[in-house]
Amino acid sequence: MPGADIKNIVIIGGSYSALGSALAWSQAPLPSHRLIIIEQKSHFQYVYAFPRAAVKTGFEESLFVPYGGLFGGDDRLGQVVRAKATAVKANTVELDREVPGFGRSISFTHLIYAAGTTIPAPGHFDAYDKQAGIECLKFYQGLIEQSQKPLIIGGGAVGIELAAEIKDYYPEKEVTLIHSRDYYLPAYKHSLSQMTYNMLKNTLKVRQIRGDRVHIPEGGFPHEVKPIVVTTKNGKTIETDLAITCIGMTPNSNLMATFSECTLHPKTKFIQVKPTLQIRDERYPHIYAVGDVIEHKDVKTGHYAWNQSVAALQNIINEITSGAPPAPYVSKDIPLIKLALGDKKAVTQTNSLGPLITLGSWIVGRSVPDDLYANFAWLWLKATPNVPDNVER
Ligand SMILES: Cc1cc2nc3c(=O)[nH]c(=O)nc-3n(C[C@H](O)[C@H](O)[C@H](O)COP(=O)(O)OP(=O)(O)OC[C@H]3O[C@@H](n4cnc5c(N)ncnc54)[C@H](O)[C@@H]3O)c2cc1C
Repeated sequence: MPGADIKNIVIIGGSYSALGSALAWSQAPLPSHRLIIIEQKSHFQYVYAFPRAAVKTGFEESLFVPYGGLFGGDDRLGQVVRAKATAVKANTVELDREVPGFGRSISFTHLIYAAGTTIPAPGHFDAYDKQAGIECLKFYQGLIEQSQKPLIIGGGAVGIELAAEIKDYYPEKEVTLIHSRDYYLPAYKHSLSQMTYNMLKNTLKVRQIRGDRVHIPEGGFPHEVKPIVVTTKNGKTIETDLAITCIGMTPNSNLMATFSECTLHPKTKFIQVKPTLQIRDERYPHIYAVGDVIEHKDVKTGHYAWNQSVAALQNIINEITSGAPPAPYVSKDIPLIKLALGDKKAVTQTNSLGPLITLGSWIVGRSVPDDLYANFAWLWLKATPNVPDNVER
């Protein structure tokens, strides 16, 4: 058991942001502190492969990675605590349950708020343990198998991948992808949008409608297969039997709304941070926010969330060890992406050959493994199927 005098650096949210910090911390921990990650889910969820796993069966298990190996079982180094954070106070986080060794709250000298965002299924699920997550994926597999004319609403990365996966696996289905803008993924080079459009059109035969929006009924579309006619803003009608919405990202910033309302962007409700990634509230210089939950020019991807978190942690470590003022986070500012578009097909924006280029070739597609690199998550978390999960701690 760690000594009673040990202090905590706490992270709320055990996803990509937290992994970045956990791995950096494990390399160079401080004797005075341990890293506590508060996460409501039992397993790290490898969402990158959810669009594929919502269509194809066989690798769902590999997308739910146990947390138990992350700190090598060394509680003095860090712990992943399974609980929902219910309130943030100046130096404590309150929990929704009793946690052995902590009780109903965890104190901190520094906090990194990394609670991410909520998006509609099948990009994310309201599933808090592995079995429930697998059942959600299988539910979507069943819906998609039954549907003859699925309509995917929203041509962000999730919508594009889902449309491609469905048409690749079920070439006989009529798949439509509708997107509100005239091109895809504006944070990347225009050529990425063009290559994606061409691959969806020519190789996969996905019907694409761009520059138009569907009218979404109050309460959303039903999660069932039945014929419906969807209308669009430009006056089109689309016959479908399954409309899947892949738009709408809501920041999980509610705890900050209560604790430090001025920190939230008045319109978007994402958390506003200083260049140093401290929240924009002079009262709390020891509280940082990173990842998808913040208002930031970085593209909302796992690798940016990871880098921001490492930068925030470094500022905290510098302050603890030398009292140094926090340094501004320097974004790499190079948006990189690999979009998997079904088996052995992909488009990418990469700088791995030097200049920033887009590629959409046979070689890129062939390099993508079936589970879309889920094995990396197992390596980061030092997990094996036998490692304990986060259910009973
Ligand atoms: C389908 C899909 C595919 C993607 N593919 C890629 C990709 O290929 N490459 C890439 O770089 N990015 C990809 N992304 C984006 C990437 O997943 C996100 O940018 C990244 O997950 C953001 O990480 P985060 O840690 O900021 O937040 P999140 O991943 O949103 O995690 C937040 C965590 O906080 C937890 N949490 C929230 N509130 C509480 C609370 N009150 N108490 C306890 N825990 C809480 C949640 O359970 C969650 O685990 C993809 C996203 C999706 C949805």
